[in-house]
Amino acid sequence: MNTEIPCPSCKSAIHLETDALLAGTHFTCSGCGATVSLSNGSKPVVSNAMQEFEKLMKTQGKNPK
Ligand SMILES: [Zn+2]
Repeated sequence: MNTEIPCPSCKSAIHLETDALLAGTHFTCSGCGATVSLSNGSKPVVSNAMQEFEKLMKTQGKNPK
């Protein structure tokens, strides 16, 4: 899914896909060129995106009770 997070450096919105992020893709801020990735130093914002992603996964759960 597509989402956006605030750049940890310049606070611009960085558009990214959470599934690509989880796969290890790096995203670059169009404002300042900062790189955002799962293994980089932006875990607070990344974990936010991951929580949103997991929430969606649960919402679309295969076996609802
Ligand atoms: Zn930036």
